[in-house]
Amino acid sequence: GWAGRYTGRFAPSPTGPLHAGSLAAALASWLDARAAGGRWLVRIEDLDTPRCSEAASATILRQLADCQLIADEPPLHQSCRTARYRHVLEQLAGQHLAYPCACTRKDIAQVLIAQGVSHERHSEHVYPGTCRDGTHGRIARSWRFHTQRFQDSAPATLPSGDSPGICRGGVQWTDRRLGSQFQDVASAVGDFVLLRADGIWAYQLAVVVDDADQGITHVVRGEDLADNTPRQILLQAALGLSFPVYLHTPLVRAADGEKLSKQHGAPSIDSSRPVPALCEAARTLGLPAPQRCWMAHPEMPSLFG
Ligand code: GLU
Repeated sequence: GWAGRYTGRFAPSPTGPLHAGSLAAALASWLDARAAGGRWLVRIEDLDTPRCSEAASATILRQLADCQLIADEPPLHQSCRTARYRHVLEQLAGQHLAYPCACTRKDIAQVLIAQGVSHERHSEHVYPGTCRDGTHGRIARSWRFHTQRFQDSAPATLPSGDSPGICRGGVQWTDRRLGSQFQDVASAVGDFVLLRADGIWAYQLAVVVDDADQGITHVVRGEDLADNTPRQILLQAALGLSFPVYLHTPLVRAADGEKLSKQHGAPSIDSSRPVPALCEAARTLGLPAPQRCWMAHPEMPSLFG
């Protein structure tokens, strides 16, 4: 069986077609899995229902197929997994590591103002912990992870050897490209949301549960997601899950230096010409130029298959 064998994945959010940046992430995870003789899965992260569409997810799967990036199993759709997320939230609540929160943005702003935090800095501020000891009769809106309590339960210093490691001061992990990383999640991020006030399961919870349930051993994804990793490691530890190995890849930059994204109006890749699209993705990843191949054989995507 596959137990313990390399399993990688590509986990697009179907808010639009693949663009140069998401194709680079797909190619990187696929190449890494194939190079390791492992399997490669696709997960459609379609929880954010107002922003995701069935049409976009069909488009993404067709574009991947056009590029010969074919998953070894049928894709998993997160929208089918809500009962599982609910179960995991109940488990965390039972461990006193998840709590209901009744605060609106306005409630949080009021607490921060009372603490003397200037208005411009509210968005970068961590949740002040108002509902940690109960909602005081207010109606629960969201659920949060009790980051402080979990970090406080860890040893005072990092255990030697294994990465990742968790101590009272934060989370240490080693990225295959970025090297050793450290974040004090409690002070840098705080008690992050697991179930949003609009009823949508938070990315952090869903990604951890699905990576575990799909047996993912290696996560390869864009560098913009790197700072989510310590939160995901805390959840993995709290749930007693094994830790995948992480590799965060270089981002495709728009002409103005911004990260390429759908919000930034990134154009769809042209998967009717898969080889140039794959070559551009390979270039982004700093891989040796396969241009020679496609210039000589523009119709031969199988060279990369
Ligand atoms: N669905 C996320 C995105 O498209 C990626 C999640 C992940 O790779 O962990 O940005």
